[in-house]
Amino acid sequence: MTAGPVKFEELSLSPESLKAVQDMGFEEATPIQSQCISLIQSGRDIIGQSQTGTGKTAAFGIPLLERIDPDNPKVQALILSPTRELAIQISEEFNKLLRYRQGVRVLPIYGGQPIERQISTLKKGVQVVVGTPGRVMDHIERRTLRLSQVSIVVLDEADEMLDMGFRDDIEFVLEKMPEDRQTLLFSATMPAPILELTKRYQRDPKHITVIRNTLTVPSIEQTYFEVRESLKLDALCRLIDAESPTLSMVFCNTKKRVDELSEQLQGRGYFAEGLHGDLKQSQRDLVMRKFRNRTLEILVATDVAARGIDVDDIDIVFNYDLPQDEEYYIHRIGRTGRAGRHGRAFTFAAGREIYKLREIMHYTKAKIKRGKMPTLTDIEEIKTRQFTEKIKSIIEEGAMTKYINVVESMIDYSALDIAAALLKYHLYDEDAEDILFEEPKKQYNQSQHYSRSDRQERSHDRTGKVNKNMSRLFINIGKKDKVRPNDIVGAITGEAGIPGRVIGHIDIYEDFTFVDVPKTLTNKILDRMAQSKIKGKKVKIEWAKPK
Ligand code: ADP
Ligand code: MG
Repeated sequence: MTAGPVKFEELSLSPESLKAVQDMGFEEATPIQSQCISLIQSGRDIIGQSQTGTGKTAAFGIPLLERIDPDNPKVQALILSPTRELAIQISEEFNKLLRYRQGVRVLPIYGGQPIERQISTLKKGVQVVVGTPGRVMDHIERRTLRLSQVSIVVLDEADEMLDMGFRDDIEFVLEKMPEDRQTLLFSATMPAPILELTKRYQRDPKHITVIRNTLTVPSIEQTYFEVRESLKLDALCRLIDAESPTLSMVFCNTKKRVDELSEQLQGRGYFAEGLHGDLKQSQRDLVMRKFRNRTLEILVATDVAARGIDVDDIDIVFNYDLPQDEEYYIHRIGRTGRAGRHGRAFTFAAGREIYKLREIMHYTKAKIKRGKMPTLTDIEEIKTRQFTEKIKSIIEEGAMTKYINVVESMIDYSALDIAAALLKYHLYDEDAEDILFEEPKKQYNQSQHYSRSDRQERSHDRTGKVNKNMSRLFINIGKKDKVRPNDIVGAITGEAGIPGRVIGHIDIYEDFTFVDVPKTLTNKILDRMAQSKIKGKKVKIEWAKPK
């Protein structure tokens, strides 16, 4: 067994693999890689157990790809993977590993994509197939995928595949394989059904376990906040405003919670979307694409939906709900702090959940320190600092003549007064109540009330006061039409081409909806939306009549 970090140079990689790995920026092999690679090269069957994010793909990918004969156009390796996203991710990682090798073709195959396209690519000759069990089985039955020359098969995320009910499909596929092959199984957990699989389909497998939390935990700063259920949403927004993460993930325990929370965040103007198993594959793909290219800042997810998803650069993981299973805690926070980056995990707990949190700390040996929620004053300070930085950079950029002329026309006031007034206008909301620290004084009315967190400008507070910069529009569509805040935001941003974050409160009543939009954009919005539809219904949108 290896001890300590291992350099890729110390493993017996081909020069092409070594160069590719260096291009990928890997400095040293992860524990699962350093323990698996040479064993796999030697032809052994393997059970590899380690958490998400520990580099299992390259652990099997490097030796597997080195084995492929580019001159043989037949399928030589098959990887079974639980989801389409994972199949695609694995193919992408494989293609990176293949950068310095010609003639090895990798194809992901999964349900949801037209099978004809897959068939025609398979016909052209593909040596490595990465597929979901159902679709792979389908191709085998159609005889469009022939496994007679497969010498290595990988079951990736085996526990997940079994949880998803793929057991029969997996067995079907394995039965169709040549007996004389190498079988690699990777899984984060080792429940009994996995052991049965390995007994039946592997030959004298070597079990390699990387002790949990050696990799993920140390570089992750973990904090918990005592937050009551009713204030979690405000607490989350507060922390996001204070920390301004570029990408964050928020975990909830159920699909329903994911839907609720992502809607609430959208209603407050955040770029958030939910991911869970009930979404159609195409929707999931869209969400993941947006998250990867950063048009989405906050991904709200269940544990199952998030597993195996590989996005680096997640700044903060929020445990909005305390995970039910201690092991989930490790999985969740392992989303951040990847590849040696500094990651942070914030966990909400209230009342009796604190005991559960202690159990998690005990089980994971994690140090989770108690955090203090930033106050509105803290946020103001942060915003002020960001604002002054921004102002400085604008001044340094120059090209301000037009604006200097405007200021000069206000000769009755000093430049200092004008600047201060602008700052106040832009930044501060003196009437804001800090409901995380005091009981809210005003009750919300009976409508579903969504207020945005004013990240761009502090022009709105959450007590329902309307700012003079905003005007209120009326739309004749409401709860009875099942309209949700993101439908409204989507329609306005889509039709009028304005960013979602400038949209203010959205109040959805039974028959109609009010939405606040910046005064300066109102005419444009009314104009562009004159003919538009929301939820398939042609809507009327107009200035709201004053109460
Ligand atoms: P797992 O399958 O164990 O969940 P992945 O194979 O998806 O993990 O790897 C997680 C991330 O870590 C990927 O972005 C991958 O490119 C990266 N990675 C893999 N091996 C290394 C390494 N040796 N050094 C740095 N990053 C790595
Ligand atoms: Mg993986």
